[in-house]
Amino acid sequence: MDKRTGLPVVGMIGAGQLARMTHQAAIGLGQSLRVLAADRDASAALVAADVQIGAHTSYDDLARFAAGCDVVTFDHEHVPGEHIAALAAAGHRVFPGAEALLHAQDKRVMRERLGADGFPVPRWRPIGSAADVVGFADEVGWPVVLKATRGGYDGKGVWTVAAVTDAAELFDPVSHEARLPLLAEERIPLRRELAALAARSPFGQVATWPVVETVQQDGICVEVIAPAPGLSEDHAAQAQELAVNLATDLGVVGILAVELFQTDAGLVINELAMRPHNSGHWTIDGAVTSQFEQHLRAVLDYPLGVTSSVAPWTVMANVLGGDPAAAIGAAAMGLDERVHHLMAAHPAVKLHLYGKAVRPGRKIGHVTATGSDLAALRAATADAAGRLRHGVPAERPQP
Ligand code: ADP
Repeated sequence: MDKRTGLPVVGMIGAGQLARMTHQAAIGLGQSLRVLAADRDASAALVAADVQIGAHTSYDDLARFAAGCDVVTFDHEHVPGEHIAALAAAGHRVFPGAEALLHAQDKRVMRERLGADGFPVPRWRPIGSAADVVGFADEVGWPVVLKATRGGYDGKGVWTVAAVTDAAELFDPVSHEARLPLLAEERIPLRRELAALAARSPFGQVATWPVVETVQQDGICVEVIAPAPGLSEDHAAQAQELAVNLATDLGVVGILAVELFQTDAGLVINELAMRPHNSGHWTIDGAVTSQFEQHLRAVLDYPLGVTSSVAPWTVMANVLGGDPAAAIGAAAMGLDERVHHLMAAHPAVKLHLYGKAVRPGRKIGHVTATGSDLAALRAATADAAGRLRHGVPAERPQP
């Protein structure tokens, strides 16, 4: 409890853009998010008053951080499960708990559990050697998708291979054993990718937002459209039900994001995240209650907020860091000037920059627009994101 305000202290481990935007929501609730940051320049550490510097892999740092927090939560899934369990055993409230979070940390555990509980997942197999890949591909056909069971993000740790030689670096050249824990999946003939977002409180209250389409380029989400255009009511309801059932089944507290593939045969679950998620950034400007506020409400066991949209459509486009070498003339235009041009061109577009140093392909911000003309919103947000990235408008993602 913060003695000055009489309001609870939420601690978030990790100080990236998710913590930064959670802090923004915390301010409205009368709070100030406490963040555990690796360094002072981290996105959330630049804006929060209550920053501790430490390593999320050090139990001592975590325990020092948790002291004085009413509840501890995460902006990433990299905290070792045994540390989370130890914090809980020491009497700290940590949400989501180690057992639930394991399903967002380890793709193998997640696939095993979801398969056993009857949720729709791709055919998959744990992989110990190159021969295992060949055996699996004999059953499901090439290409297959190989995944590191832990530590992947934004498509890193995912390899689509048409032959085992395509993934030679993953196997020891002599023994042919896998160099890291791997699994293989059938390649799903996907029509598009969707995401369903749910929040759950310890009390058991659940809420879901409209199901969105996530547009990916090179394994990175570039655009989110809310709601997913043309999604049937049945599929939308099914996706929301999957998210709610999973949150309840796994005992998630906070936000659960379920990444889905839409195929001709129906919906298949790809991936889970148990924290505010990129597919939910649109809710800041496009929903009555944002995912960040809802995450705080959930971990504090407050009643959850209404999740309906405030406009027929919301489009969010990620701003990725540009390649300085490719920017040529635009390279001379600094971020401040780009912002100026963007605001002049698109006064209705909402800008969210994360205060992060620009690196090629790194998510440095997002832009959002709400309204009733979907094509116009997509064009405006793609143009706005392109101006920030390149200093000039970029090509828009294909529908
Ligand atoms: P990450 O953990 O890096 O986000 P994902 O498992 O979400 O990795 O995979 C990244 C992207 O790779 C997905 O968004 C999708 O476009 C593609 N992908 C992953 N698994 C499959 C699959 N089984 N079939 C087809 N495409 C896949």
